[in-house]
Amino acid sequence: MKPAIADGHAVTIHYRLTLDDGTVADDSFGGDPLVYLHGSHNIVPGLEKQLTGKNVGETCEVEVDPSEGYGQYDPAADQAVPKSQFPPNVDIQPGMSFQAKGPNGQPIPVWVAKVEEETVTITANHPLAGQRLSFKVEVVDVREATEEEKQHGHVHGPGGTEH
Ligand code: ZN
Repeated sequence: MKPAIADGHAVTIHYRLTLDDGTVADDSFGGDPLVYLHGSHNIVPGLEKQLTGKNVGETCEVEVDPSEGYGQYDPAADQAVPKSQFPPNVDIQPGMSFQAKGPNGQPIPVWVAKVEEETVTITANHPLAGQRLSFKVEVVDVREATEEEKQHGHVHGPGGTEH
């Protein structure tokens, strides 16, 4: 008997993410499933919360508001920077993500929002910020995570972090 989904469990799911306009933003069905450590914020908070207690073999539909998904869209988080600040050998494209350095040197994920002739608009808004997320989820496997996985805050082995 496999345990139900709870904090400290390594969980394998298939999922399809659909936006309000019907766009399928992500789909693991037919490909590799997602393996994550439940309770360690590897996935968006609203999805994690609503998967708690689900069992292997269960399929469910989960609706997540922006506040519990990728956050509200914040126009103040957009910043135009001269293209000359980017390495010339990099082909900058909208949607690309990279790590910027915060005030205390901490890494902050940012995305390229717009590319113009002289400027590149970067943003701290996740590309799915402000979107309501509809997930279809199938729970494929659940197991107790190892002590090492719990310490690292992620799952090791196939589908997880290899190191
Ligand atoms: Zn690790």
